[in-house]
Amino acid sequence: MADFVGAVDQGTTSTRFMIFDHGGNEVARHQLEHEQIMPQAGWVEHNPIEIWERTVAVVRTAMQKADLSASDLAAVGITNQRETTVVWDRRTGRPYYNAIVWQDTRTDRIASALDRDGRGDVIRRKAGLPPATYFSGGKIQWILENVDGVREAAERGDALFGNTDSWLLWNITRGSHVTDVTNASRTMLMNLETLDWDDELLSFFGIPRSMLPEIRPSSDPTGYGVAHVDGPLGGDVPLTGDLGDQQAATVGQVCFSPGEAKNTYGTGNFMLLNTGTKLVRSENGLLTTVCYKFGDAAPVYALEGSIAVTGSAVQWLRDQLRIIKSASESESLASRVPDSGGVYFVPAFSGLFAPYWRSDARGAIVGLSRFNTDAHIARATLEAICYQTRDVVDAMAQDSGVTLDVLKVDGGITVNNLCMQIQADVLGVPVSRPVVAETTALGAAYAAGLAVGYWKNTEELRENWNESQRWQPNWTPEQRDQGFGRWKKAVQRTLDWVD
Ligand code: ADP
Repeated sequence: MADFVGAVDQGTTSTRFMIFDHGGNEVARHQLEHEQIMPQAGWVEHNPIEIWERTVAVVRTAMQKADLSASDLAAVGITNQRETTVVWDRRTGRPYYNAIVWQDTRTDRIASALDRDGRGDVIRRKAGLPPATYFSGGKIQWILENVDGVREAAERGDALFGNTDSWLLWNITRGSHVTDVTNASRTMLMNLETLDWDDELLSFFGIPRSMLPEIRPSSDPTGYGVAHVDGPLGGDVPLTGDLGDQQAATVGQVCFSPGEAKNTYGTGNFMLLNTGTKLVRSENGLLTTVCYKFGDAAPVYALEGSIAVTGSAVQWLRDQLRIIKSASESESLASRVPDSGGVYFVPAFSGLFAPYWRSDARGAIVGLSRFNTDAHIARATLEAICYQTRDVVDAMAQDSGVTLDVLKVDGGITVNNLCMQIQADVLGVPVSRPVVAETTALGAAYAAGLAVGYWKNTEELRENWNESQRWQPNWTPEQRDQGFGRWKKAVQRTLDWVD
C-alpha cells in the first residue's frame, strides 16, 4: 500500500491540500486564498472557476513539495465549506452563477416565508434544521428564480447543483455528480432518517430532483469516481472520503463516541457533539445533522452549534476598521489592556445563528466610554468569539445533559493564545488543542484512508491524537457570571434591529 493519504480542504477563505502519513502527521501542504466577492450588503460570493484553479494549484504544489506522485497516495479525501451553493451546466461544466456562500443573507425572504405557513416545522422535523439563509435549499431557489435560463435548464436536466465538494469531484473526475450524507444534511432537502432527498422538501423550494447529486457515505470504498489522469493528481488515486468541513474536524479530533465534542474556530465557529446513532432533536437552538457515515455502518448523528461570525470579525478589524494589519495582531493589540474596559461587541453581521437563529439581528458595540481604545475593541472581539461559544456550550448541555470536562479545539484562531485563555476563563473548563491543528483536512484524510484499509479502524486513529497545549480557567465564578450576564444584555441590543 502507498505510504500517504491526501486531503483537499476547500474552505471559506482558502483552499489547501495536505498530505499525511500513517501517524496522522503532516508531510506537506500548500494553501491559496480566493476572492471574497461582496456585491451588496449581506451578499457573499465565490468564483467557482477560481476555486477549481486554486485546487489544481495547491494539489500540484503540495505534491511537488513532498516530491510525491499519484502512486504514493493510498487515497484522497475532500472536505469543504458546507452549504455554499454552485449550480453549473452539465454539458459545458460552466457555472451559471457565482457560488452563493453560506454567510450570504440574500435569501432572507425565502427563509422567513417558510416559517409563516408551517413548512418550517416540516423542515425542522425532516431535515433537523431551522429555516435559515444559511442552508443550500434557499440559495438554489434564488438561482432558479433570478438567473436567466437556469429554471429551463434545470427542467431539461442540464443544471446541476453541488456544494463545493461536488463541484470539485465533478471536475476531478470529469463528470461524477456525487456528494456525501454530511453535506446533503445541510441543504434542508435531505430527510435525516432515510438519508435521501425528500420530495416534499424539494417541493418547498421548487427544485427538480435531477439537479441533485447522488448521496453517498462519507467514507466510501467504492469511491466517488475516477480521478482523471490530466487532473491535478496526475493519476487515478482512490477518491474515498467526502465530509463537510465541521464533520471532518469532528473525525479529525477522533470524537467517535457519543458525548465527545469539538469546537472549530475559523471564519465562523462550529461546535459538534457526537450523539451516536441516535437522532437528538434540539430544543435549544442547535441543529441536528449527520456527523459521518462510514461505509455500510449506521450513520452517526451530531448536535451542532453554528456561529456565523468569529474569525471574520477579526478580518473586519483588519479590513474595515483597519486597527490591525494581520489577524495575528489581534492578540498583541488586545494584550495591551487587562480587560475589555466594559466594551461588548456582538458581531451579528449575518444575523445571529445558534442558539438564536435571528436573521434580522445586526451587529453592535456597546458599553463605550471615552476611555476606550482600539485595544479594548480588539479584546472585545476575542471575547465575543468566546461568549458566543459559551452560548452554544450551554445549549448543548441543556439538550444532551452532557457537561464538558474539557473543550477540544482546532482551527485558525486557536494559535491565538490570549483568545484560548479567555475561552477557558469564560467557560470555566480547560481548553485543549491537539498537535495537528489542521483537523479538518486530517478528518477527510481519515475518512478516505479508512475506506481503503490504510487505517484499520477508528481505534487506530484515536492513537494518533496527542495534546499540544492546554489552557486552564483563571476567572472567579463571579467574574464569569458578571461577564456573561453583560454579554447577554449586549445580545439583546442586536435583536429586532431591522424593521
Ligand atoms: P476557514 O477554514 O473558515 O477558512 P481558518 O481555520 O483558516 O478558517 O481560520 C481563518 C480565520 O481565523 C480568519 O477569519 C482569521 O481572521 C482568523 N485568524 C487567523 N489567525 C488568527 C489569530 N492569530 N488571531 C485571531 N484570529 C485569527
